[in-house]
Amino acid sequence: MVDVNYDDMMPIDPFADDPNDPASFIEDDEVAEPLSAQERVEVIQDLSNVRDCMRRLRPRGVLGIYFQCEDCEELHYYDWEIMEQNMLASLRGELPPVHEPSAMPNVDAYVPWDYAMGYLDGLDAR
Ligand SMILES: [Zn+2]
Repeated sequence: MVDVNYDDMMPIDPFADDPNDPASFIEDDEVAEPLSAQERVEVIQDLSNVRDCMRRLRPRGVLGIYFQCEDCEELHYYDWEIMEQNMLASLRGELPPVHEPSAMPNVDAYVPWDYAMGYLDGLDAR
């Protein structure tokens, strides 16, 4: 486990709708709970989706996702790379590295996760 001090530590969980998410019970900067087998499957699936987005949506100008933060109630913007790194960290049993959202993101280039997934489905349907 690499001991890195990330400034402005805060939870990043674009999929925070799940009330059973064990991550929601973790105190601050402690080691993450190990993922259950089911959670691993879901993270691996999401990782695959994120990589599809990098490969297929970024060339179309979609740089990442945004979601409304439950803590500060503002929209946060995350690039695909950050999503990927967060998911890889989860799979390694680490808490995701926290990235300060871009101060002035090009907000037009970010979409909600569900929209990105629908966009991918739409490309597949062609
Ligand atoms: Zn926030």
